[in-house]
Amino acid sequence: MLEIKIRIDDFPQGEPDKRYTKQNIKMIELLEAKQISYILGVVPELVSYYDIDFLKTLKYGLIGMHGFNHGLDIWRPTSEFDLMDCKKIEIGVIRGLNILKDFNIEWFIPPFNMFNQILLNILAEYKFKFITGGVESYTYMNYNNMDFNNLKFVLSKPPFYTSNGNINGILNLIDKLPENEMITFHLCGNYI
Ligand SMILES: [Zn+2]
Repeated sequence: MLEIKIRIDDFPQGEPDKRYTKQNIKMIELLEAKQISYILGVVPELVSYYDIDFLKTLKYGLIGMHGFNHGLDIWRPTSEFDLMDCKKIEIGVIRGLNILKDFNIEWFIPPFNMFNQILLNILAEYKFKFITGGVESYTYMNYNNMDFNNLKFVLSKPPFYTSNGNINGILNLIDKLPENEMITFHLCGNYI
C-alpha cells in the first residue's frame, strides 16, 4: 500500500527572488514537524549545494526527480523530455541522477505530468520504481498503449493550492484518498 499521499513539486523553483521556493520550504517544514511523509519533486539542474544540504536534513521527504531542468515553456502541454530524442533524454536522466547522487532516487515526477514511451523505457533501465502523473497524463497521452515496464504509475489528483501554509485541510483530504493516489501541492503557482 502506498503510504505517501502528498507530492510537492518544483524544488527549487527558478524564480530570482526565491519567493516561491521559500514557501515550499515552509510547507516542507510543516510536514516534517508533523512527521508526515511526502514526495518532493526536485529539479536537478536548479539545485545548489545549499539546496542539497537542506534536502539531506529531511526525515519524511522522499526525493524524486522532477525532470532535469523542467523545461521553459509552461504553457505547452508537454514535458521537457517529450521533444528530445532518446539519447538526449538518457543524458538528462543520467545528469539528474548524478546531481542527486546522495539520495536514493526511485520516483520520477514528470514536469507537467507528461511523459512518453522513450522516457518510460529509460527510467526502467535506470531503476526508477515509480512515476507520477495527473489526469492530463491520460488526456494527452496514448496511456493505454504504453508499456510501463516495471514502473508503478501513481495518480496525482489535481493541484491543491495554498499560499498560507495552513495544512489542516490538506490532512483531511489525504485521509480520504483512495489507495494508489496522491495529491499534488503547488504553493503559489498555477502551473505544474
Ligand atoms: Zn513542475
